[in-house]
Amino acid sequence: MRSLSKFSMGVGDRFGMEGEAQLRAFQAARDRGVTVTPVWNKSNREHSLIGTRPEDVRAEADKAVERCAWQRDYFVDADHIGLGTVDKFLASSDFFTIDVADAIGKPAADEAIAAYAAAMQPFLGTLPIPGIACPVTVTTEGLAEIAAKYLFAVAEAGRVYRHIVQKKGEGNFVTEVSCDETTTPQTPAELLFILAAAAREGIAVDTIAPKFSGEFLKGIDYVGDLGRFAREFADDLAVLAFAQKTFGLPAGLKLSVHSGSDKFSLYPIMHRALAKSGAGIHLKTAGTTWLEEVIGLAAAGGDGLAFAKALYREACGRYDELAKPYLTVIAIDRQALPAPAAVDAWTAEEYVGALAHDQACPRYNIHFRQMVHISFRLAAEKGPEYLDLLRANRAGIEAHVYDNILKRHMAPLFLGAAF
Ligand SMILES: [Zn+2]
Repeated sequence: MRSLSKFSMGVGDRFGMEGEAQLRAFQAARDRGVTVTPVWNKSNREHSLIGTRPEDVRAEADKAVERCAWQRDYFVDADHIGLGTVDKFLASSDFFTIDVADAIGKPAADEAIAAYAAAMQPFLGTLPIPGIACPVTVTTEGLAEIAAKYLFAVAEAGRVYRHIVQKKGEGNFVTEVSCDETTTPQTPAELLFILAAAAREGIAVDTIAPKFSGEFLKGIDYVGDLGRFAREFADDLAVLAFAQKTFGLPAGLKLSVHSGSDKFSLYPIMHRALAKSGAGIHLKTAGTTWLEEVIGLAAAGGDGLAFAKALYREACGRYDELAKPYLTVIAIDRQALPAPAAVDAWTAEEYVGALAHDQACPRYNIHFRQMVHISFRLAAEKGPEYLDLLRANRAGIEAHVYDNILKRHMAPLFLGAAF
């Protein structure tokens, strides 16, 4: 039976070169007494933009595990898949993030809604959810609204889940259901009844990724109301614990936070809520390892810095094309971007200062950072030229990748302390 440990973290690696540096960060956390299960995640979108295949991620993970002699569990996540995309991930993945966001709001069959409403009768009224800030009260009408919005989507998740079970066998993979890529956050009641519906579908949900309020933009900190996030997060933890027991879901059921990376201001809030409740968490980060590669190249000076500058110049010229797949998850003010000619004159330190996610650094520019974040395709187009640069600057890049994961993500979230 494959299941996640209490703490797990998804890392992306666009070019498949940093698996060992990433895994060494997990080893360092382990050495300090905290086991965090590594998960290498890559979405179908990311594969198609870079030209990699799911088996490449599996090969990278296996190689890193072998080289680092990692003795514990690890997973390869088919991130944000559906029925149309899952097949090519079946052989290489043992973690499946079933994305149902596109199915939210589609109508379920009348009989399915009636059967669900009948089964949920015992849960109408005010629910005794321990630890929740405001009591959750559900009426017949409220339940009907939730069913209208989510029942079809959960049924779709059931279809995908059973398809995976057929190919991999029950219990041989981790199942995540994600509904984060939608417009409105789920209420505690919605999350509860989504989990009830998932249990009725027979989905062995290990992790669920709800949408939270606020903006989870790629590679930059959270934008939103921290107090509101703290309430939502604590409520979601309470709902999950209640749903797990009430509907007989897997014992390790936990929240998955699709962070888009670098939600530094949320980590202390999450850490406190986890410590208080005893709950586990899966943190999914985006491909900011790519940014650590650019930082490492820029810091190296010479060819590395020249590459980083040329990359930015090209990105400015191809902005619309690069931004298109990411429009809902970036907020780049083009007026606030430095001119490529100005960047060309930067020293290594100046480039790194603008790009590295250090909000205390006066040179840090969130627009510049997001711009470089979405320009990984340009490096993919360079093919061997880019990979050779990565090889030539191995030690410096790996130090950045390792430090970033360990000190900026794992330490505040899982340890609540600095390394
Ligand atoms: Zn997501």
